[in-house]
Amino acid sequence: MTNVGNSAASRDKAFYLHPYTNLKTHETVGPLVIERGSGVHVFDDSGKSYIEGMAGLWCTSLGFGEERLVEAAARQMRKLPFYHSFGHKAHDPGIDLAEALIGMAPVPMSKVFFTSSGSEANDTVVKLVWYHNNALGRPNKKKIIARQKGYHGVTVASASLTGLPHLHRDFDLPIAGILHTDCPHFYRYGEDGETEEDFAIRMANQLEQLILAEGPDTIAAFIAEPVMGAGGVIVPPASYFDHIQPVLKRYDILFIADEVICGFGRTGSMFGSQTFNLKPDIITVAKALSSAYLPIAAVMISEPIYQTMVSQSEKIGTFGHGYTYSGHPVSAAVALETLKIYQERDIVGHVRSVAPTLQQGLRRFADHPLVGEVRGVGLIAGVEIVADKVTKAPFDPKLAIGGHVARFAQDHGLIVRAMGDTIGFCPPLVITAAELDDLVDRFGKALDATLAMVT
Ligand code: PLP
Repeated sequence: MTNVGNSAASRDKAFYLHPYTNLKTHETVGPLVIERGSGVHVFDDSGKSYIEGMAGLWCTSLGFGEERLVEAAARQMRKLPFYHSFGHKAHDPGIDLAEALIGMAPVPMSKVFFTSSGSEANDTVVKLVWYHNNALGRPNKKKIIARQKGYHGVTVASASLTGLPHLHRDFDLPIAGILHTDCPHFYRYGEDGETEEDFAIRMANQLEQLILAEGPDTIAAFIAEPVMGAGGVIVPPASYFDHIQPVLKRYDILFIADEVICGFGRTGSMFGSQTFNLKPDIITVAKALSSAYLPIAAVMISEPIYQTMVSQSEKIGTFGHGYTYSGHPVSAAVALETLKIYQERDIVGHVRSVAPTLQQGLRRFADHPLVGEVRGVGLIAGVEIVADKVTKAPFDPKLAIGGHVARFAQDHGLIVRAMGDTIGFCPPLVITAAELDDLVDRFGKALDATLAMVT
């Protein structure tokens, strides 16, 4: 083996294959090695501090260094570090967490299935939807409609649901039977003279056209994030889901709400389904379920779906699906403690009280020469950078303008995420108004530095 040196950076380049990274660029750039975290801040290996404006990957809701979660993990580690729930086995943290989730679900739900990641949760959903329709004797009703720019994960099935080209290209995805309907982004796709309401109706009509073209008897389910995250923080028009849901009902199509980002307070309600009045049949959650301190995700299903699964598993002899780490007791214990903290500290009330500082703070930049649109709700927001505010023309993609903004933000001690030309914000839910002011100021400096670069 060649000598790679001792620095973290050189060993990283030598050995670590990074997820979701331009691998060629990585050979010459970075990495930013994060060593520790405290509150809403993280610190790199030179000691520089950053506001974690994305809560990591939209997930570290309670910030860094929440001792109660550390203690919950340690307690469970000592008592029972692992057990599973295959073949009628169970453990207390898993049972307690399932009960807690059913108790707080935004619509009546019947059972909870645990996975370790959002991708596995959505992958599980695809299988459950197929299983359900087979049980109902509808073997042709199997297609699932997702949306362009929707993000649902990276496993074979969940990446197929994701509506972003780079998750499909050269991975031979999407798999058959996954369709994508339009992205409800009014700023980008609204037509001249169209109101947001007209646009929402057009989106629902286009969904219906797709269903009719494919044959309603072939469409099993529709999946949507209440607010699209990784697609660029796209907040749908207020009435979008009011128009979408009757279309689904008309053709007996299950509605899956992907609450992996929106769940647990992010949009100013406990679930995005409450903010947008969704009545899903299936809900997936992850990330803030455990404040990301340990991996855990969940699928909640309605009673009718559970009943078909019971009859099918009786017929087959088992429900043949489950992961070694489904409902891992240490992850479940940490998730339970996280949910307790949300209740005790009224996390939803806190988000509502500080959200205007983020939303109005970022809207201060609406007149900035580089800003096309500022959008968001609760503690999630996106700022779309454009070359021309009037025509909404983007910068040449080769310039990777979003990446420059994110890099300048990093220089100013703020971590944000560039999704194409949209900069995402999703800070820990515990962030204070003063910290949000600081975040907005640092972002303003990054915008100005970018402007100086392009002019
Ligand atoms: N669904 C949504 C809405 C997400 O944002 C993500 C991840 O960002 C996923 C699913 C996939 O979750 P994971 O990365 O835990 O597999």
